[in-house]
Amino acid sequence: MSTLPIIEFPDPRLRTKAEPVRVFDAELKQFVADMFETMYAANGVGLASTQVNVHKQVLVADMSDERNEPLALINPQILEKDGAQVYQEGCLSFPGIYADVTRALRVKVKAQDVDGNEIVVDAEGPLAVCIQHEMDHLAGKVFVDYLSPLRRTMLLKRLDKQRKQAANG
Ligand code: ZN
Repeated sequence: MSTLPIIEFPDPRLRTKAEPVRVFDAELKQFVADMFETMYAANGVGLASTQVNVHKQVLVADMSDERNEPLALINPQILEKDGAQVYQEGCLSFPGIYADVTRALRVKVKAQDVDGNEIVVDAEGPLAVCIQHEMDHLAGKVFVDYLSPLRRTMLLKRLDKQRKQAANG
């Protein structure tokens, strides 16, 4: 296994729409394993393939404290969603940036596992947030797209400043 480099905003490749996965082979399994390793190494709770510059519909998540509930969704589609929640989100492509985003409280998602079997996931609360956030990545969207222009500008200035400090320090 190996960790993959994560691309960061405003890299235009984050705007790429992912293609469906059609072949469920050893290469796909290896890629999913690498995505989990990358997510865990970065202390993230979710990662979309878009963020590692692979534009296939693959996302991984693990919302557990013990980091032992890995969930991989391939070709995910939202069947139903309802309710609303505000949750403070972060993103491995926006290091150090957090913002409140309103999303559905519950989602029912149809997807495939690494073997191509159909799975249906009923998610609520933080896991529902995570799945919606990662599915957005696969559609070329990022969480700051939901913010007001003023709030977005503020956060992106902060991101820029942190990068400059990191480069100097
Ligand atoms: Zn993200």
